[in-house]
Amino acid sequence: MTTPLSFRQSVDHMVQHAMSVLDLDPGLRDVIRTCNSVIQVRFPVKLHGKIHTFKGWRATHSTHRLPVKGGIRYAPYADQDEVEALAALMSYKCALVDVPFGGSKGALQIDPSQYDRDDMELITRRFATELIRKGFMNPATNVPAPDMGTGQREMAWMAGTYKHLFPDDINHQACVTGKPVHHGGIRGRVEATGRGVQYALQEFFRHPGDVAGAGLGGGLEGKRVVIQGLGNVGYHAAKFLSEEDGVKVIAVIEREGVLLNPDGIPIQHLRDHMVEHKTIRSFPDADFEEDGRKALELECDILIPAAMEGQIDEQNCDRIQAKMIVEAANGPVSFGADQKLQARGMVILPDVYVNAGGVTVSYFEWIRNISHIRFGRMQRRHDEQRASQYATLLQEITGARLSEDRRNSVIRGADEIDLVRSGLDDTMRLAYQEMRNTLLGSEQIHDLRTAAYVIAIGKIARSYHDVGIY
Ligand code: NAD
Repeated sequence: MTTPLSFRQSVDHMVQHAMSVLDLDPGLRDVIRTCNSVIQVRFPVKLHGKIHTFKGWRATHSTHRLPVKGGIRYAPYADQDEVEALAALMSYKCALVDVPFGGSKGALQIDPSQYDRDDMELITRRFATELIRKGFMNPATNVPAPDMGTGQREMAWMAGTYKHLFPDDINHQACVTGKPVHHGGIRGRVEATGRGVQYALQEFFRHPGDVAGAGLGGGLEGKRVVIQGLGNVGYHAAKFLSEEDGVKVIAVIEREGVLLNPDGIPIQHLRDHMVEHKTIRSFPDADFEEDGRKALELECDILIPAAMEGQIDEQNCDRIQAKMIVEAANGPVSFGADQKLQARGMVILPDVYVNAGGVTVSYFEWIRNISHIRFGRMQRRHDEQRASQYATLLQEITGARLSEDRRNSVIRGADEIDLVRSGLDDTMRLAYQEMRNTLLGSEQIHDLRTAAYVIAIGKIARSYHDVGIY
């Protein structure tokens, strides 16, 4: 039996497959594929009188654009191979959605559930200090963000640590993204990745031919969804898709098992239950079963893996019955499984596209930080005044009268969250259309993942060509 590929090898095989379609200099292929640099840090932290040693990594995959960008993951199983794979995905993701950053990723080997809040603060600040000192965290060159096991809280501690060390850096807030709004964050970042998953699916369903290609018809309304992982990404995606687009989430798979309800699981209610009880077992509005992994094989319209990598592999891929897979997590389908599923004609919206909403809104946050002004602050009232004048003019010309409510909604100027959503929606729509056109325009490309990589690699290669290699 052949040894299964590691996550990094799996991503590399997908990239090489896309490169075989492109006419690239072999040397340039290697430059693009390989990870530029990776550091491993080990550092001690004294907790409750006892010294603990922690191990972490930060990898920089491609520096064709600066800063490099990518989340920091806290997980007990984190390792260097995973960090390098995730850093590579970040380079391609940023290129695909025209976010002008290179790719990076970091991880700390830790189980956050074993430590209290104060411990986590000490550990995070110490880890940030290591990254900053070694040049792997800086507003101009390397900007982390949240990933599995981290969120606004950790980003605030990291930003605070950087500011403490470099109070004279006027752009200190831009050293990480995903911060709380009152600490330089941007409205809409917390839910951005899940919102991006929703926008990706909305765009897919705007193309009836593509929907038919997946063996589906009509719109999103009533589609049966199975989702794995109800964390940041999974919760927001499931919430928006069920509450705003009318999909039916018939199964939620979590670490401890799966909840099933053919009529649809109320996502907000389930999330509240998880926060309060720290388990899904006792949730009253669905049936619980222990074997969560088996539930990936349930018959459904859309399967959304939103937990972690390697969930659909060569062992279980033949039993997947979903009509389409939407990769909200990074690397949920292995290279081998991907090949088999593509051969079956399965439509897969790839991770480099689907979960790009997070880095897109992180880009908006970084711009907000270096420009030191909230989006919409200068023009909102001006736009309202102009719209009000037009509305008055329209009423005078036509003699019609707008109700107070109607008038207010017509003249309302966009605030930050409106602009963030508009920018994210535009990004997800354009990237899907570019992938689709690439797929339809080539006889050598047969799937959206290869199309996504071909676009991303082409853009990175062009950037090396323009600037040169020195
Ligand atoms: P998270 O830690 O908030 O949530 C992960 C959820 O998955 C948790 O509820 C966890 O209990 C569950 N889970 C973990 N292992 C599981 C398993 N084997 N089976 C079932 N459930 C499991 O993490 P997140 O930020 O939502 O990230 C999820 C995925 O999305 C990761 O692959 C991450 O790299 C990717 N991603 C996240 C972001 C972001 O902005 N947070 C952006 C892009 C991609």
